[in-house]
Amino acid sequence: MCGIFGYVGKQLSLETLVEGLQRLEYRGYDSCGIAALREKKLFLQKRSGKIAHLRKQLDSKLKSKTELAILHTRWATHGKPNKINAHPHIGCRRKIVAVHNGIIENFLPLKEKLKKQGHRFTSETDTEIIVHLIEEYYKGSLAEAVKKAITKLDGSFAVGVFCVEDPDTLLVARKASPLIVGLGKEGNFIASDIPALLSFTKKVIYLKDGELAVLKKDSFFITFFSTKFLPELFKNNPFGYFWQFVLYCSEGRVKSPIDYTKYMSCFVFKKNNPKIVHQGKDIFVDTPGKMVEPDEGYIDHPTPKPKHFIKEILKMFTKENDLVLDPFIGSGSTAVACIQLNRKFIGFEIEKIF
Ligand code: GLU
Repeated sequence: MCGIFGYVGKQLSLETLVEGLQRLEYRGYDSCGIAALREKKLFLQKRSGKIAHLRKQLDSKLKSKTELAILHTRWATHGKPNKINAHPHIGCRRKIVAVHNGIIENFLPLKEKLKKQGHRFTSETDTEIIVHLIEEYYKGSLAEAVKKAITKLDGSFAVGVFCVEDPDTLLVARKASPLIVGLGKEGNFIASDIPALLSFTKKVIYLKDGELAVLKKDSFFITFFSTKFLPELFKNNPFGYFWQFVLYCSEGRVKSPIDYTKYMSCFVFKKNNPKIVHQGKDIFVDTPGKMVEPDEGYIDHPTPKPKHFIKEILKMFTKENDLVLDPFIGSGSTAVACIQLNRKFIGFEIEKIF
């Protein structure tokens, strides 16, 4: 157990945020820390012991405001409960910042590999490999980098991440550790448990295993970071099995709610068939270019998906009344094709909240 609390929004004081973290004290902890962006600069403060001491340490800075922050109470599993091992952890270039609850079982081989790639580690924690992995994959899109990094992790995790270069985005993902997203009028929050959120908002979403949420000041988007959790995620759904296809645009022009990306995927659920068919591999871990190359040009809006191509695929692989789930886009070509072909459609959009 430990506590994660985070915020992206118009502005809150460090004091208010520390109070949010204090509402998670009941979970138990041995050290604590905060990372925030203040006037576009990274501010990091951590220590062993009580949040009350961290609060004292922050002193005159308590009243200063931030638009983006993550806070953490640690219950040490790997490494002593000291200041260096306390979260948040940061990458070598001091841009990627992360907190973690859980245990990364394969951290040793990952750490060795990252060291060979030139990453310098400062703590004894399993957690620190997460920031270096994200740093390794970061090429301008935090969402892409986080997705890639967390599909390499075995074990349990709730992770909160931000990047100094992307001051409007807070990312969270979870597998077997609790994480809640809170949607507020003045911004959005993440927390390990409800008490931290109650004074800010009553609108909460419990993330499921395999889900990744991208939070901005006034919008959010939830997607899967890996299809490998889908069977679990849809265990209690009314559908028999799913099939995934991937569209790949080598120019990286596909605009998905989380960013510009090179690929997108669709899942086709078929009723009354208990078999799971994997077509290709997980889109986030293998090379999508080897899968499907659309042979048409791109449309500009809402997504540059090759319309005709999607229709053909849907015709090939689905029957009338099958349900098609488009986890990235939720509009445009897939929806239109589904209507034309009499398939049911579910899509996800960035949800504007207020
Ligand atoms: N395993 C991590 C560590 O030892 C996270 C522990 C926690 O959940 O607080 O730093």
